[in-house]
Amino acid sequence: MADARAPQDAAATPPAGFHVGGLVPFTTTDYPGKLAAVVFAQGCPWRCGYCHNPHLLPPRGTDEVAWSDVLAWLDGRRGLLDAVVFSGGEPTAQSGLADAMRAVRAKGFAVGLHTGGIYPRRLAEVVGLVDWVGLDVKAPIAAYVQVTGVASSGLAAFASLDLLQRAGVPLEIRTTVHPVLTPPADLRALARELAECGVRSWVLQTFRPIGCANDELNASAPAGARLDEALLAELAAVVPEIALR
Ligand code: SF4
Repeated sequence: MADARAPQDAAATPPAGFHVGGLVPFTTTDYPGKLAAVVFAQGCPWRCGYCHNPHLLPPRGTDEVAWSDVLAWLDGRRGLLDAVVFSGGEPTAQSGLADAMRAVRAKGFAVGLHTGGIYPRRLAEVVGLVDWVGLDVKAPIAAYVQVTGVASSGLAAFASLDLLQRAGVPLEIRTTVHPVLTPPADLRALARELAECGVRSWVLQTFRPIGCANDELNASAPAGARLDEALLAELAAVVPEIALR
């Protein structure tokens, strides 16, 4: 997920329905092959140690952008942007997500979604409204709690993976790699679980200590560290297409 920044003219009081914690007006990296804006949903129930947007975790933020202002701004971006990506925070935590996506589609933009798969039932509501999903799969199911701090979080994420695969939505599976939170043994186990789910393409994102509020985790993952080549070869023997980011 990209860093969230609120535009200078953000309204102070967002309407009920969809709470926006920030907006990136232009990105080429958050939706493959498309020029996009990123809307950052305010709020997330998980507490991943490596989260780099901790200000988006509370259900209400101090720098929210009114959804009506985002929609009005999008009117001026027709022909300049291809897509709007809902990121977070966790977009599926908000009951207004489907309406927000419909409003974006009505303006002619494709819809992307970055999600941890936290709420499979909410995901089922919006799966027909999304053109592409980036799904964070954080760990093998049994080890999810050590990343998110939430028991049973892995069951939700894998239920979401199954739902998205059945729906046939273009999907990117990605995992943040941190030497403490996702050690090699867990990556090997996750590769096996993904392969059992039919996943053949996997993006591994090296943790970067940017925005993360956990000093110990930052210190244990030096900037510039690279994934071990031998481990990568092992993982690629299980999930054939691995991309590094
Ligand atoms: S699911 Fe995403 S937004 Fe929520 S705590 Fe984890 S990294 Fe942060």
